[in-house]
Amino acid sequence: MESIEQALKAFDQDGRLQKRIERQRQELLDSAIVQAFLQDHPDVTRSMIDRALSKLYEFKKERGNCQTCPGLDHCPNMIKGFQPALYTERGSIEISYSRCQLKREQEAEQAKLQLIQSLYIPKDILKATFDDMEQNEERADALSEGLEFALSANPGEKGKGLYLYGKFGVGKTYLLGAIANELKTKNIQSYLIYTPDFFREMKQAIGDGSFQEKLEAVRKAPVLMLDDIGAETTTAWTRDEVLGPILQYRMAEKLPTLFTSNYDYDELEEQLAYSEKGGIERLKAKRIMERIKHFTTFVEVGGQNRRSM
Ligand code: ADP
Ligand code: MG
Repeated sequence: MESIEQALKAFDQDGRLQKRIERQRQELLDSAIVQAFLQDHPDVTRSMIDRALSKLYEFKKERGNCQTCPGLDHCPNMIKGFQPALYTERGSIEISYSRCQLKREQEAEQAKLQLIQSLYIPKDILKATFDDMEQNEERADALSEGLEFALSANPGEKGKGLYLYGKFGVGKTYLLGAIANELKTKNIQSYLIYTPDFFREMKQAIGDGSFQEKLEAVRKAPVLMLDDIGAETTTAWTRDEVLGPILQYRMAEKLPTLFTSNYDYDELEEQLAYSEKGGIERLKAKRIMERIKHFTTFVEVGGQNRRSM
């Protein structure tokens, strides 16, 4: 049986193919990125290069992708978010992959998210979308305000959010889910938080030293959704040490916050004025409510309790 080389020679009588291969090889070796590696590794010999051509091609191609990085979601590399590096080991050139800067940032972001236990996404909320949402008269306003918010959201530039007020079971949380999913298609991250659990969690965080870290993460969420605010866990402490600082930061940075509540603005103010130390702290409650009012559009979600349907 003839060797591949012989077969190639017979096929490539005028040597054109051979020349093309040689040219490509030279281009590869001359490329800035391979040159940089060779300069850092004076021990690399010609025979090492010849044995590692495919690795060098791979390295050049994948690194080239990084130079025109289209963002993590569209990363064209073999393993999304991984970047190749060359090294030598026992007389041969080897390739290894590690996380790129963007991937590392994304993972740090996710780790921060995992800090927050009260971040919650029940299954039906997770898949809520505007497309398959049931419509009805009483909710038409809420749906269109919700959709409008999602379509025009621009955290950092536009700080106005929504205040979804309505009775238990009318679909407020579900609407938040649909908004969160719509935002996801625009690569805008939202934190959907069950507020009573969050306030409890923050109280505990004082004890285990994670308070500041948790506050920081929630404060900086591109879009923050505080579900069911105003329930029994709202205390003077959560008002002054958690809610106040979060809202103050977000308003200054123009990061929108969405609320859902069974209480309207005035009723929530009553809730926030209550102090367990005794007495009513109207001024403090008013100040926070002024902020909330100024930075949300009030939307009533009507309809029946869907949980009893
Ligand atoms: P709320 O937060 O106002 O108490 P939920 O959002 O939890 O109410 O909704 C109650 C139930 O109705 C949930 O099981 C939810 O999945 C369902 N639901 C709410 N809105 C819709 C909708 N537009 N289309 C389909 N199912 C809905
Ligand atoms: Mg709810």
